[in-house]
Amino acid sequence: MTVPKAFLKQNRKKRLEQGHPWVYPGEIETIEGDPQGGDIIHIFNHVGHFLAKGFYNPLSQLIIRILTYSEQVEVDENLFLDKIEQAWKRRKWLSPEISSCRVVHGEADFLPGLIIDKYEDVLVVQILSLGIEVRRQWVYNSLRKIFNPRGIYERSDVPVRRLEGLEEREGFVDEPFDTQVTVRENGLSIVVDVAEGQKTGYFFDQRENRAALKPLMTGWGARHGIKVEGDGPPIDAKGRELKNPFWDGAEVLDCFSHTGSFMLHACLFGAKKVTCLDISEKAIEMARGNALLNGFLHRTEFVAANAFDFLREKVKDKKTWDIVILDPPAFAKNRKALEGAVRGYKEINLQGMKMVREGGILVTASCSYHLSAARFLNMLQDAAMDAHKVLRLIEFRRAGLDHPVLLGSEETDYLKFAIYEVFSR
Ligand code: SAH
Repeated sequence: MTVPKAFLKQNRKKRLEQGHPWVYPGEIETIEGDPQGGDIIHIFNHVGHFLAKGFYNPLSQLIIRILTYSEQVEVDENLFLDKIEQAWKRRKWLSPEISSCRVVHGEADFLPGLIIDKYEDVLVVQILSLGIEVRRQWVYNSLRKIFNPRGIYERSDVPVRRLEGLEEREGFVDEPFDTQVTVRENGLSIVVDVAEGQKTGYFFDQRENRAALKPLMTGWGARHGIKVEGDGPPIDAKGRELKNPFWDGAEVLDCFSHTGSFMLHACLFGAKKVTCLDISEKAIEMARGNALLNGFLHRTEFVAANAFDFLREKVKDKKTWDIVILDPPAFAKNRKALEGAVRGYKEINLQGMKMVREGGILVTASCSYHLSAARFLNMLQDAAMDAHKVLRLIEFRRAGLDHPVLLGSEETDYLKFAIYEVFSR
């Protein structure tokens, strides 16, 4: 059987050579052989120089997705096993303490359209390309060999699969098992439901960002008018002695709290009080359960409400916090939705910064890759201008180490995370 070949045009942007993992239909001069959707195709430049091997899918705008730059490498189950093993080794090398994380991050791990998240002894798989879809048994066999997991759950319940001609699918890969898993992160226990939770159940991409909150959560007592003389007890502005061991902690609003992972870290790092807000009752129940599990219930409160209404209302009531955290879902699911999404981001950030006490902190994120980092900063500046605020950056961060980014593939660089001090103007 002859291997199908794609010859690329002479006059195209050298995207592939720049590290971009996709070939678009307009870049192809000719195709030799009779490749079917999902087949492996070899890619050559216009003078017949070998470039890469990839998955072919004529239904998709991503007509070829690159799997390997090696001409010698055979595409078989062993290749999948090797790639997944390498990806897992990299995580353990960079974060030796890790037991739950993203193990495979699609293109950035040279497995286009494959996401694998490890929740302790449970694995969650999401398949976003036809090439992986038709070889998914190789993925499952490899996972069984490498991890010997308690269970594997598939969360291919995402509409983007349609762009590859695939239906949505969700469920147990083998025998059913309890889908509630307690993951460990930065010393916390967090119960996650891999079947019910957002995306694959949890957001590993913010692990390091959550850890970055540590210094922010204490040092607020003096600003609250609390005084300490010598070795004496803390005394509040009314002269009362304070018994609360968290008297120096921040008052925090965690908006879009989902599992409550930011709230848990805030408490761990010494916050005095954290308010969790999410529109979903289920998410709020999950966050409350996690607060209880970690012994933080007395320092937390929970509100199920629409953030847009809640923020506007609290601004009207002149309610303020030391730290406001905004970790919204991706408002821009595609390029067309970007303008509306920017308005949404601006609105919550504008209201959010109004609720930060003078010199307090705004923690703000966006996981929408259609919103570039530059556009994100622009949006924040617009919001700050309208809110009469001046923002001073403490840290700008990206996704964590288990979500690698390929230079040349901006699509893998989606998460923006910024910590600002907020001053009035
Ligand atoms: N910070 C979370 C992740 C946020 S995911 C974590 O660390 O796990 C986004 C969350 O926003 C979801 O839980 C979703 O229920 C919630 N959400 C979506 N739209 C909302 C809205 N308009 N108001 C409040 N919450 C909303």
